[in-house]
Amino acid sequence: MTNKFTILGSGSSLGVPRIDGDFGKCNPNDQKNHRTRCCAHLKFNEISILIDTSPDLRSQLLRNKIKDVDCVLYTHAHADQTHGINDLRAFYIKYRKRLNVYADRLTKKHLMSSFGYCFKNKPGYPAILKMNLLKKKIYFKSKKKNLIIEPIIAQHGYIEAASYLINKKIYYGSDVSKIYDKDIKKLHKLDFFIIDCLRYEYHPSHYNLEEVLSLIKIIKPKKTILTNLHSSVDYTKLKKILPKNVIPAYDGMKILFN
Ligand SMILES: [Zn+2]
Repeated sequence: MTNKFTILGSGSSLGVPRIDGDFGKCNPNDQKNHRTRCCAHLKFNEISILIDTSPDLRSQLLRNKIKDVDCVLYTHAHADQTHGINDLRAFYIKYRKRLNVYADRLTKKHLMSSFGYCFKNKPGYPAILKMNLLKKKIYFKSKKKNLIIEPIIAQHGYIEAASYLINKKIYYGSDVSKIYDKDIKKLHKLDFFIIDCLRYEYHPSHYNLEEVLSLIKIIKPKKTILTNLHSSVDYTKLKKILPKNVIPAYDGMKILFN
């Protein structure tokens, strides 16, 4: 098992607890209920890929001892997935070259207008990032097995967000309210299905528990991991009612795979 997928953050947009200390229905004494904003990291042989730059990015990388990043894949432009972007400056300073980031058209437009200083040179402030438009498939050459990441564009309420299929074995969709029918067939042989499951009740921009449970009856992944969890969802209480191959995510959760 040389490869590792880490859930850096498993919480919804305001995290648990919120900035005002509110834990909602979560037991504050359970460390697994302490959730930062959704963000993930993939270590595949020597390749290090970040998915999103949450506002908690700095503490997430420090806590998980991630010292190198080769590129960033963005899911969408919402604040909870992008506002840690400025901390990527550390990698420009370390490598003396711009870090490649990948985004779909809308996310690209938003990032380049909101965080233009990251992408354009100014006297004394060199650009730290290089923007790339998401391709149908992104290939990474590795010393051992190659890595292929396929972006799957899914509905996320009023917008669309990218989710990512890694070597056809791991799916990561932290912000999804519907995976389109045309893509469902690509998800039939998954080892790990990491999916948005905001809360028990319906939400227009995210899957809820009932919707996820119906979805996994169709695609039958070996293991499902629920992420983007709201403060109304307590880790232990949720775990108790889930089928045994479905588990809630928590910050720092690691998946090892070949
Ligand atoms: Zn979002």
